[in-house]
Amino acid sequence: MSPNPAVWCAKCNLRIAPYDLLTVYHGTNYHQDCFLRLVREEADAAKRGQALPGLISKKTGGHTNHPASRM
Ligand SMILES: [Zn+2]
Repeated sequence: MSPNPAVWCAKCNLRIAPYDLLTVYHGTNYHQDCFLRLVREEADAAKRGQALPGLISKKTGGHTNHPASRM
């Protein structure tokens, strides 16, 4: 009966509670905090010309959800 389906943060793999700030980016859900962190890491990685470890899902078991895995 919940109006809000469960959403999971692609960064920290925790559930995003209805009262948490939710950011949707490229169809992927993040905590707002996690998204800001992700953006920073991405900018840092881009500066160094490195791949993005943060965007590649760590195998924590269970929920792996990366719609566009970039190589
Ligand atoms: Zn998160």
